[in-house]
Amino acid sequence: MSEIQHKYYQDYHELVELMKKSDHGYDFDLVEKAYRFAEEKHGDQRRASGIPYILHPTSVACILAELGMDSESIAAALLHDVVEDTPVTLDEIISLFGHEIAGLIDGVTKLGKIPYSSREEQQAENIRKMLIAMSNDIRVIIIKLADRLHNMRTLECMKEQHRRDKALEVMEVYAPIAHRLGIRAIKEELEDLSIRYLDPVGYAEIERQLEKKSKDRINFVAEIKQNLYERLKGEINNVYISGRVKSIHGIYKKTFVKGKTMDQIFDIFAVRVIVDSVADCYNVLGIVHDMYKPLPNRFKDYISTPKPNMYQSLHTTVIGKEGVPFEIQIRTWEMHYTAEYGIAAHWKYKEGITKKDSLDERLAWIRKMLENQSDNDSTDIVRTIKMDLVPEEVFIFTPKGDVISLPAGATVIDVAYAIHSGVGNRMIGAKVDKRIVPIDYKVKTGEIVEIITSKEEGGPKRDWLNIVKTSEARSKIRLWFKREKRDENIVEGRNQLETEFKRLNIHVPEKELEEFLADTMRRQNCNSIEDFYASIGYGGIQLWRILPKLKEEYIKRYSEAEPAPVVITEPTRKKISGGVHIEGIDDCLVKYSRCCNPLPGDEIIGFITRGYGVSIHKRTCSNVPRNIEEADEPERWVKAEWADRISNETFQSTLQITATDRTGLLADITNQLSAMHLFIHALNSREARNGMAVVEVTITVNGINHLKMVISRLSGINGIVSIGRA
Ligand code: MN
Repeated sequence: MSEIQHKYYQDYHELVELMKKSDHGYDFDLVEKAYRFAEEKHGDQRRASGIPYILHPTSVACILAELGMDSESIAAALLHDVVEDTPVTLDEIISLFGHEIAGLIDGVTKLGKIPYSSREEQQAENIRKMLIAMSNDIRVIIIKLADRLHNMRTLECMKEQHRRDKALEVMEVYAPIAHRLGIRAIKEELEDLSIRYLDPVGYAEIERQLEKKSKDRINFVAEIKQNLYERLKGEINNVYISGRVKSIHGIYKKTFVKGKTMDQIFDIFAVRVIVDSVADCYNVLGIVHDMYKPLPNRFKDYISTPKPNMYQSLHTTVIGKEGVPFEIQIRTWEMHYTAEYGIAAHWKYKEGITKKDSLDERLAWIRKMLENQSDNDSTDIVRTIKMDLVPEEVFIFTPKGDVISLPAGATVIDVAYAIHSGVGNRMIGAKVDKRIVPIDYKVKTGEIVEIITSKEEGGPKRDWLNIVKTSEARSKIRLWFKREKRDENIVEGRNQLETEFKRLNIHVPEKELEEFLADTMRRQNCNSIEDFYASIGYGGIQLWRILPKLKEEYIKRYSEAEPAPVVITEPTRKKISGGVHIEGIDDCLVKYSRCCNPLPGDEIIGFITRGYGVSIHKRTCSNVPRNIEEADEPERWVKAEWADRISNETFQSTLQITATDRTGLLADITNQLSAMHLFIHALNSREARNGMAVVEVTITVNGINHLKMVISRLSGINGIVSIGRA
């Protein structure tokens, strides 16, 4: 192997040395067993560079050992590609290494399968959250980060396009995750490696400039370190001082993105002072400001206000010799470990609670750390971290690969409305991972959700309002009903007004009507005649209040003669309203209720609604009281019967079909229905027990006989056990 490649690979021997150096109390037998197994199974597999494959997992394990991760994580890292790239199954891993390690490996494998294609910021953020949400155990994401880091280090021999794709994904997804988990060591290296592939010229330019002044810089930093040390050692115990150069990506951002020159970047080099206590931090700060002149507005106290990723330090920029500014960072050791290793510091320095903790336990150390600090409000920060780590969100894919985030508990209906209200309003069912699911199915992170829609907008069901989780879906469904009802309301309002006008002998020519009503409309705050009718329809405007004025106005405008006496007739005759006779009610709007979908031939009853006419129910509908006399408002229930001669009206009816579950069942049902030229409003299928499927389909028929014919045609389908009206 070439020299360059070799430096990025570490073997098992180096891993053991790293583990021995730490005081972590590693389980060497476990790690050895994992290594032997992986070595045997990878056999003579090789990386694209020709290097033996086993050196990849050992290198990943070394990165984790350097981070101070536990024995289980290191074993899982050694085994992380075994299930994916060799014939070994997860069950074998479980029996050999137990559920914990198998769970880590399985998690890492699953994360590797999440596709990444979109370049939109929102998509990248969703994928980041999805990755974290899918890592039930946060160690999974840390192993994945180490895997990614090693792959980035050894990307050299891959094709140009592949390198750029990987670099972009790392830049948009993995580096931000490392940042959020506070693992600076991994974050900065990932960014530097990515920039190298994404902008080789810019990268080389920065490298060259850093190189040019490197000797000056080393001397400059060495001198400051020396001066600081001389002054501090007399006043503060255990001072550790180091110098550092800003990461290339950090400089890159400031030069190429913010347009600064190298000389304008104050923190290209920084000096870091590490002490034992928080009090010492502030003491050091005082001494530093006494030694050097601080730049105004460059002091930041991240000790009293930690960054959301737990980072704590005091930062100040001061002017050194010859007017060269430099940054000083002051922190305790604990803050230093957190800054370098972030969440991984939990395993490195808090041994004993490394097992699969609950989230609270996992964050307890952060909270403890924050509580140790003086009076700052740590609850918000802890909450932020908690929400970031395990969001109360689920992330699903559309079939096109877009990621949608939803609150936990969201259903397929929420998904439909999150895509577009048009999709929700035309939704008739859904598939999750290619299987049909019930309409109230709650989606889970990582699932591919496909919404099945009809060509026409059938509209949502009222009970969807009780199923959906998001307020977005709920308000879109409400809007649909309001909009739909608006049409009904307009018809109803217009009918009411026409009836009253007729009764009062008000005859305004159609084309003058709007002008005639203009004053009244304005007084009622209606902007259009539709608004006016709709308001009458739903009862917002009460006709008896406005009619006397309108009558007066009418007489003034249209009749020179004395007003005709107002004749009030009580409508008591039976009248036909849309194919239904309703006793005692004239010419009213009739609606067939959705709860029981009555069909001509059914025994029916009417209910006088407030503002929407009469709704017709089946006599046997569960919403109709058994005994009308004992009902709450018995006067609102009215006798109704089907007219002898039915108009061309059609009716919706829902059938419940029980059948033995098989592929093609739904297709057979829909084929039969379309062969009969029936319009399908909704189709919903779910699995029942013992291999049965229940299909509910809502269709349009013109009566009970038509429906009977449909049922008999459907009964011929293979496997159908029963068909009934839902
Ligand atoms: Mn790997």
